[in-house]
Amino acid sequence: MARVAFIGLGNMGGGMAANLAKNGHDVRAFDLSEEALAKAKAAGCLPKASAAEAIEGAEAVVTMLPAGKHVESVYTDAVFGNAATSAILIDCSTIDVATAKRVADAAAAKGLTAVDAPVSGGIGAANAGTLTFMVGGSQDAFARAEPFLADMGKALIHAGQNGAGQAAKICNNMILGATMAATCEAFLLAEKLGLKAQAFYDIASVSSGQSWSMTSYCPVPGVGPDTPADHDYQGGFAAALMLKDLRLAMAASEDVGAQTPMGAQARELYEAFADQGQGGVDFSGIIRMLRGEAQE
Ligand code: NAD
Repeated sequence: MARVAFIGLGNMGGGMAANLAKNGHDVRAFDLSEEALAKAKAAGCLPKASAAEAIEGAEAVVTMLPAGKHVESVYTDAVFGNAATSAILIDCSTIDVATAKRVADAAAAKGLTAVDAPVSGGIGAANAGTLTFMVGGSQDAFARAEPFLADMGKALIHAGQNGAGQAAKICNNMILGATMAATCEAFLLAEKLGLKAQAFYDIASVSSGQSWSMTSYCPVPGVGPDTPADHDYQGGFAAALMLKDLRLAMAASEDVGAQTPMGAQARELYEAFADQGQGGVDFSGIIRMLRGEAQE
């Protein structure tokens, strides 16, 4: 088993670091949040006072941070200068393709090997160790990252060169943003047409309206599996992060001239939700806005 540095122990990183520890790795953890560090300690990780301290002597450096600017600053300030050239650098955050490539190029210039390995699956999968990883990097880098990713996920897919993992991720999340909004709309319409949410779920979840947003992340409380809807839309995947991903997708779409009107509509909806001060609420909570419930 290996010594692994884990930076960013939030909703996702907390469960992922815990799974690495559970699988026998010596996990040196760092987060700016004391609370997140305490949780990681309780899950078997060794809390460290800085990212640099966590990285020293690590065979793998895993980052799970909010956005590109956090990844770039952690790489610049702590990874470069402290990581051994034999270490594999694995960034699991969802960030823009350009930053992912820039960070990987900067790593290569220092003799380091990096992959972008964003995830799909949400906190349930992060806790259960059943994430899907989409990986950008060389074949050799993918092979080096694989054993660590396998301890946190169930599906590891090599998407292509550096940046390809992030490209796959934003395309995936463009589908997710649009299907979540559509699923919320369908529940609300069903309700107004006199259908019980449970009856609609039972039908749509085995019909052609089925999607992950319906069956694995149902936005209606008390229906389907346990989801953030059952916890007042707390935890889970913050609407602000969904908005971030939709903005990344729309920026990429403009860059390459792709037609993505559904993605653009989803971005507008999540912008409106965030403008109502709901960015910290789980992204399935957008059903409240569509329902016309009073917002703070
Ligand atoms: P989060 O905000 O819960 O966690 C991020 C953590 O990073 C926080 O604990 C924060 O304190 C820490 N952090 C920020 N800057 C830091 C720094 N400089 N050094 C150390 N720690 C720092 O976010 P999350 O929901 O865990 O998401 C993390 C990433 O995973 C995001 O890029 C998100 O888009 C992606 N993602 C999230 C989900 C989900 O369901 N939550 C699913 C797939 C992908």
